[in-house]
Amino acid sequence: MDNILEQHDSTFLLPRNAPPGFHVLAKPTGSICNLDCKYCFFLSKELLYPDSRFRMADELLEQYIKQLIQGQRVQEIVVAWQGGEPTLMGLDFFERSIAYEKKYLPQGKTILNTIQTNGTLLDDAWCEFFKRNNFLVGLSLDGPREMHDAYRVDKGGAPTFDKVMHAAHLLQKHAVEFNILCTVHAANEQHPLEVYRFFRDELKTQYIQFIPIVERATPELLPIANEGWGDSHHARPLYLLEGNLVTERSVNSQAWGKFLSAVFDEWVRRDVGTVFVQMFDAALASWVGVPPALCIFSETCGNALALEHNGDLYSCDHFVEPKFKLGNIKQDLMIELVASDQQRAFGNAKRDMLPKYCRECEVKFACHGECPRNRFIRTPPSANAPDGEEGLNYLCAGYRNFFNHIDHPMKLMAQLLRQGRYADEVMGILAQEENEKYANVGRNDMCPCGSGKKFKYCHGRGDA
Ligand code: SF4
Ligand code: SF4
Repeated sequence: MDNILEQHDSTFLLPRNAPPGFHVLAKPTGSICNLDCKYCFFLSKELLYPDSRFRMADELLEQYIKQLIQGQRVQEIVVAWQGGEPTLMGLDFFERSIAYEKKYLPQGKTILNTIQTNGTLLDDAWCEFFKRNNFLVGLSLDGPREMHDAYRVDKGGAPTFDKVMHAAHLLQKHAVEFNILCTVHAANEQHPLEVYRFFRDELKTQYIQFIPIVERATPELLPIANEGWGDSHHARPLYLLEGNLVTERSVNSQAWGKFLSAVFDEWVRRDVGTVFVQMFDAALASWVGVPPALCIFSETCGNALALEHNGDLYSCDHFVEPKFKLGNIKQDLMIELVASDQQRAFGNAKRDMLPKYCRECEVKFACHGECPRNRFIRTPPSANAPDGEEGLNYLCAGYRNFFNHIDHPMKLMAQLLRQGRYADEVMGILAQEENEKYANVGRNDMCPCGSGKKFKYCHGRGDA
């Protein structure tokens, strides 16, 4: 290990194919976590390292921070911790990380530290540390109590909602900036507004990310996968991206689109500029014509990698599987692995493997077939492909509805931004449009919005 540090003791020449910046999710405890969330795809990755202690060594931490800083030409370097549960490493580990950042950061560059946590181990000391070092914290919370506790349980199967809420309040007490990471699944997919309003009105959070749960399974695995994994059920087998079935916990594709549309409708009428939903920001970028910050909606990917606790670098957090291992940063320079033909091919495959059905889709500019991990169904039959084509995204139906649904307000916001105005003016424009549209509708008429409901039960309701 010393050799690599010595060989590259100052800024090294970056490979020709290297992107200016890249993102690494580092897992200092590997997949080890103190919880046993029923839908977690990552817990089983423990099986990849049968004899490991699952703790990132100090020399590797130094090596990693140094290579991360020296391998990028961007102004801001992001140091992102994830798991498993990274807080299991203890505060000392992160204090050392900050010390290495200070040691290797050249003048004129900045660092943003982020950590994704289940929150259950946070206390005042953690929050003071986060505040002191300007961490951006991602806190996993799936909505109100019954929706969160449906799947997010500890090793004994006990609910975790109260502990996570305690963590959220601690973060607020210490004025730590945090995002809510809310997965959408069978237990909350029918309750978009309840979930959104809970975050906005009860938790008073401004930053929300929605993430669809799609747990793939083969026909052989599906029955036991549905029964559940964890200490009180079946042992988790290594989760691989195989099979074209999904578990009962997974979000339904249409429901996912309706969930996003319902939240969007509420957000675009009252919360633009005060609540930030990552997916809506990414969509707006596509309507404006700039690359979205979310890899899943980009044309190509390959610049968001995953680092295991022992230095193994993988193509992506969702592809921590033997065939997607690029190398180990103790032997190979991380930037050379990032720039490698294997990794560039991985990223370009997102574009190159798109079925014709997607290439001709009216919302391809915003969707780009979403993430390859979810591309395991067939397209509808066509003249050229009577059995359909392989490689359509399982969430396609939902995304297609959603992106079409938001087209009009997105066009309005994009136009405002192009005119140098603020996107939040869209709220006033939509309110005026709707006043005109509904002005002469009778209570018992069908609602002009196309819902199929009577006006008095739809937009004619006092609260609509
Ligand atoms: S595989 Fe999916 S999650 Fe991974 S980098 Fe590509 S789009 Fe992003
Ligand atoms: S909405 Fe469906 S068809 Fe259109 S680009 Fe996305 S996955 Fe492909």
